[in-house]
Amino acid sequence: MTYTLDPPLPASATPKDYTRFHFDTSQVPPKRIVGLLACQRDPLLRSLRTTVHAVREAQIRAPPIPKGKAGIKKKPAAPVVVNGDGLGEKKEEKGKLWEVELVDTVIFPEGGGQPFDTGLIHLLDPNGDKRISTFVVEGCLRKQLDSVHLVRVPDGVTGDWEGKEVEVEVDWDRRMDQMSIHSSQHLLSAVLDVAPFNLNTLSWSMHAYPSLETPYVELSRALTQAEAIAAEKRCMDLIAEAKKVWIDVSIQGGEIGHSGEMDERNVGVIPKDYNGGVIRHVNIQDTDRNACCGTQYPSLSYLGLIHVIPPTTTSTSATKLYFTAGPRAVRYLQAASRTLTTAAQVVGSGRADLVEKLERTEVQRKEAVDATRSLKGEVAKFVGEMAVREGKGSEGKGIVWIKREEKSTHDFEFLGGISTIYLQSFGPEGDKVKPLIITTSSPPMSVTPTLLMIQSTDQDLAKEVNERLKKALEGRVKGGGAKGRYMSKVEGKWGKAENILIEELVKELRGKVEV
Ligand SMILES: [Zn+2]
Repeated sequence: MTYTLDPPLPASATPKDYTRFHFDTSQVPPKRIVGLLACQRDPLLRSLRTTVHAVREAQIRAPPIPKGKAGIKKKPAAPVVVNGDGLGEKKEEKGKLWEVELVDTVIFPEGGGQPFDTGLIHLLDPNGDKRISTFVVEGCLRKQLDSVHLVRVPDGVTGDWEGKEVEVEVDWDRRMDQMSIHSSQHLLSAVLDVAPFNLNTLSWSMHAYPSLETPYVELSRALTQAEAIAAEKRCMDLIAEAKKVWIDVSIQGGEIGHSGEMDERNVGVIPKDYNGGVIRHVNIQDTDRNACCGTQYPSLSYLGLIHVIPPTTTSTSATKLYFTAGPRAVRYLQAASRTLTTAAQVVGSGRADLVEKLERTEVQRKEAVDATRSLKGEVAKFVGEMAVREGKGSEGKGIVWIKREEKSTHDFEFLGGISTIYLQSFGPEGDKVKPLIITTSSPPMSVTPTLLMIQSTDQDLAKEVNERLKKALEGRVKGGGAKGRYMSKVEGKWGKAENILIEELVKELRGKVEV
């Protein structure tokens, strides 16, 4: 077993025995493949001098948008004629995207659920001690065994970079955030794997920096709040014990470590297009061993903080358990604290009394809902009885239209209540007329559509009236019904013309009734 590849990397705080090679490293070619990159051998190394291996223009204009960025769409780049002769070609403001392969790099390409790093590439003068120019690495992708930097290059820069000396530098804030989350995921999964939880991690996912979104591990069931607290406590204990983390590297196909002392999870399965490379196992002292290609802190103490979000629901099927850790956890808790203040201000309480205040408010709200329902029932009865008097009066002939304009009773349940009271008053037999009731609700100044309900004990009559109104209101009616009961929403303004339409219809229907 050896700990270094030649040439050795610059010194950092990473312990010398962090990466452990379980194969003969003397034959490893100088161009580092994914699995042996400097960022994977020493996760704390922030910059590195190296040489450009290959350069070509990228086929894409921008790096793939990482998860969680969908809502923050960048301004689309100006269109570019890719194969133009340069004459009349529309200049893209931001220049072109190049694919740059370096002999070695501190920039991690995406992998194992960990999003790619970003950073800078500085071109150095031939003596290698002065920066000539600097380019932004907007992303980095793994292409089989190669790590490919996506570099933004202004127009006019020539591509004769091959063999040139460069200094490559990782965006450290982004790396710290994403590495903390990834290391924490291994820790949390390891804690959940064993008693008393005994829950395998089915999958995991995180959003790229600077998202505040909480990453998750997917489990076969939801944790209880008590379990979430216990899992968090166990993780925090291991962080406090500053458990050591190291990486075993073996040749793909000749992995070591299948001694059966710890089962491996399926989370870190090797991608299908990664062949002929190395297999990396991340070990957490006394805790876990798992295949992983990401960058992992050399000690749990770097994580500082992990917070398992207490679940609000229970589930016995596959469920996401959210958590946050490291610098993201700090930002998350800052944001949560500000939200708590705002929420307390909204309901006019102190932060400490917020839950109590909300509980009281919720009780009052439920009481108010009950009271409203009961009052609406009363009003529906009252309006229904008025409809009965009108329908059974000498002019009514069983046909009535109840027009409502109150926002507080603007719902089908209320209209249905009136209609039921009305129709029930006629009884199944005995009355000579077949009653029909049209109800509308069109509160003035309201943006919601007008509600229209047609109900009759005569199914054909209800159907006919519904058809006629639908036709007269020309495509503005959405809804349906059957068996003597039709409910619709009428789009657009309800005004004089619509009122006349129904008045005329009622008059006509009454005229047809022979009493
Ligand atoms: Zn991993």
